Amino acid sequence: MKKILFAIGVIAIIGLGVYALSNISQKTNTASGNISIVTTLFPQYDFAKAIGGDKVDVSLLLPPGVEAHAYEPKPSDITKINNANIFVYTGELMEPWAHDIIEGADKKVKVVDASTNIEMMKEEHEHEEEADHHEAEKEHGHEHGGVDPHIWLDFDNAKIMAENIAKALIEVDSQNADYYQNNLQAYQKKLTELDNAYKNTLSACKSKSIVYGGHYAFGYMAKRYGLEYVAAQGFSPDAEPSAKDMIALTGQIKKDNISYVFYEELTSSKIAETLARETNAKLLLLNGAHNLAKEDYESGATFISLMESNLKNLSLGLGCKQ
Ligand SMILES: [Zn+2]
Repeated sequence: MKKILFAIGVIAIIGLGVYALSNISQKTNTASGNISIVTTLFPQYDFAKAIGGDKVDVSLLLPPGVEAHAYEPKPSDITKINNANIFVYTGELMEPWAHDIIEGADKKVKVVDASTNIEMMKEEHEHEEEADHHEAEKEHGHEHGGVDPHIWLDFDNAKIMAENIAKALIEVDSQNADYYQNNLQAYQKKLTELDNAYKNTLSACKSKSIVYGGHYAFGYMAKRYGLEYVAAQGFSPDAEPSAKDMIALTGQIKKDNISYVFYEELTSSKIAETLARETNAKLLLLNGAHNLAKEDYESGATFISLMESNLKNLSLGLGCKQ
C-alpha cells in the first residue's frame, strides 16, 4: 500500500513539474513573439482576444470597475500605448481624450478606431433640458454632439468592430492572416447566434418599454429589436436627471404598468432605486458592458456572456414568453 502511495506521489510530482515547465515555456513564447494590443474599453478588449487567440496579448486601459465615461487617461497609459503594436479605441465620441493620445503616440503603433465604417445613431430621446445637458457635458469634456457612442450594443456593429480589429492584426502580422480571418468568422457567427436569440426572445413580450434608471446606453439595442427605451440620463452618467424627468418617468411606469426598472453597471443605482421605490417596481441589471466589474473580470466574463445575462433579465423584465 505504501509503495502504491509512493508511486502515486512520484507521478504527481513529475506531473506538476511538466505542467510548470510547459507553463514557463508558454510564457516565454508570449513575451517574445506575441502581438501586443492595448484597448480602451471592454468590448474591443474581448473582440481582440477572440480574434487574436494565442498570438496576442491584450490589455485593458481602464482598470476593472472603473466607469468609462468619467475616465481620464494617466501618463502611464501613454507609455502602455507606445509599447503596444496595436491600440484600439471605440471612437472619439466615446473617448474624446483619445485624440490627443493618438497625436502624441509613437508612429509605429497601429491605431484602430473601432467605429470605422459604422453608421452612428443620432439621439432619438428628447429632454426639455437637453440644451442644458449638453452644456454640462461640454464642461465635463464629454460632448457627444447628439450622436450615440454606444455602438457595440448593436451586434451588427460589434461585427464591424471585430472586423476592424482583424484588419489591423492582418496588417501587422500578415503571416497569420488565415488564423485571424478564421477566428473573425467564428466570432461573427457567435454574434449572429446571439442576435438571433435576442430576436426570438424579444419578439414575444408583454411590454416593449425598457425603463432605465441610468444613462442612455441602449439606444442601438432598442432600435434593433423594436423596443422603446427611456433613460433617466443622457449619453453619459455624469449629469443628474431633473425632478421633472423623474416625475415623467415614474408617471410612465405607473401608466404602463411596468413591473421592472433596469439599472446600470459600475455606477450608483440610486436613480433606479428611487424609480422602483416610487412605483413598487422591481430592479434588474442591464449591463452596458463599457467595462467589467472586478468580480466579472475575475470570473472570466465575456461580451457574449454579459449579453446573455442581459437577455435573461430583459426576458424577465419585459415578460417575454421565453
Ligand atoms: Zn455609456
